Amino acid sequence: TATAIAASEDAVETARRHLVQPWPFAGSVGAEARALIGEGDGIYITDGDGKRLIDGPAGMWCVNVGHRRKELAEVMYDQAMALSYNTPWYTMNAPSAELAERIAGHAPGDLSHVFFTTGGSSAVETALRFMQFYNNVRGRPEKKLILSRGGAYHGSTYLSASLNGRPRDRDWMDGADELIVKLSSPNPFRRPAGMSVGDFADFLVDEFAETVARIGAGRIGAFVGEPVQASGGVVIAPDGYLRRIREICRQNDILYVSDEVVTAFGRLGHVFASDDVFGIEPDMITFAKGVTSGYFPLGGVVISARLMEELRRSNHPDAMFGHGLTYTSHPVGCAVALRNLDLLEGGVLEHARQVAPYFQAKLKTLEELPLVGEVRGAGLMACVECVADRESNDPLLIDKDVGKRIDAHCHELGLLVRPLINMCVMSPPLVISTEQIDDMVAILREGI
Ligand code: PLP
Repeated sequence: TATAIAASEDAVETARRHLVQPWPFAGSVGAEARALIGEGDGIYITDGDGKRLIDGPAGMWCVNVGHRRKELAEVMYDQAMALSYNTPWYTMNAPSAELAERIAGHAPGDLSHVFFTTGGSSAVETALRFMQFYNNVRGRPEKKLILSRGGAYHGSTYLSASLNGRPRDRDWMDGADELIVKLSSPNPFRRPAGMSVGDFADFLVDEFAETVARIGAGRIGAFVGEPVQASGGVVIAPDGYLRRIREICRQNDILYVSDEVVTAFGRLGHVFASDDVFGIEPDMITFAKGVTSGYFPLGGVVISARLMEELRRSNHPDAMFGHGLTYTSHPVGCAVALRNLDLLEGGVLEHARQVAPYFQAKLKTLEELPLVGEVRGAGLMACVECVADRESNDPLLIDKDVGKRIDAHCHELGLLVRPLINMCVMSPPLVISTEQIDDMVAILREGI
């Protein structure tokens, strides 16, 4: 369009001189050029050389309704022309009120109140600061520890990042370790040798219960977990495990925070997966990404009405939740999210549920390849994990990053892959057709 900034070779050079990219290595920080993306359309993006690629990760698991949706562009324009911003400190706007109501309508149990943020990290941060405030107001200031798991990814702000449990994330980084208790990753593919999946579930639940007993429920404020660990490699925990953990939390008055930053808004075929897919009613759900299909940075936390009620009835009605972001309840972001929700409810969710079995079955055929140890997934998210050999299932690490090498081959062939060390994560826009799934898997097969 007339005012969009075109992709040019200059941009690559300018970035190398001035742009600090996320997740850089010290040896190239502030001096790195990455593949330049110029345009997007449906499930495709176009790189700086004009090459069309299938957007395998849908941006970062977020472009759920696909690129170049005119309806979303128009609503951004219209809302910005009507009201581009208002301070959320002592004013409010209609799009955020309407969106909160729509989201509450989809949330499980009594989750009925929404606090909007700028993305996923700030959503997780908000949920945890809310837990701290809740326990302070209720006269339990020592009940603040947070349970998190290996393989987790919850964000890049200080407290949310402290929860992260993926290899490499924390190697060179500090964190609020005194506030966090780490549990095992629920990854059945990496369970102890000789243990059945059923026994592995018992092991995880016992570890959880024993940790609560050892530390004391009176010191633990929250458990934070993704229903499916996304960036940890699309880890699907053993059947029933989440429900059992949820029950332990309930019995011990530990708030269960379900981090649905990736899984909400359609990735698993539903607006929220906690209840509809896994049968759990958390105390809080964090979301971001798919809420606007990535068209605008927005996230939030859905909070249980019970917690609100307890605060209102506490002995400290003057205690202030000292937390708010300049862009909390942004009118443009909320207006885009409302339109995006129309699209999801108007057919995209249904489509995602329909193609998901085909997507999973097609990708599963890659297990025929000798490099592939396991293909696993749910809904429209999957991980192809490469191993050195299938006996040991040791992660395959060629030139440090086999995922990056597969990505480079696939890029040549017309597919963008999300490389994660020895894993390739696939989470395309939810509007992908079965023919496009065939193309995607054929390229991935050749690339591997
Ligand atoms: N939580 C989960 C499960 C995520 O996958 C992510 C990002 O990938 C985040 C939180 C952080 O979200 P953001 O990058 O929008 O801050």
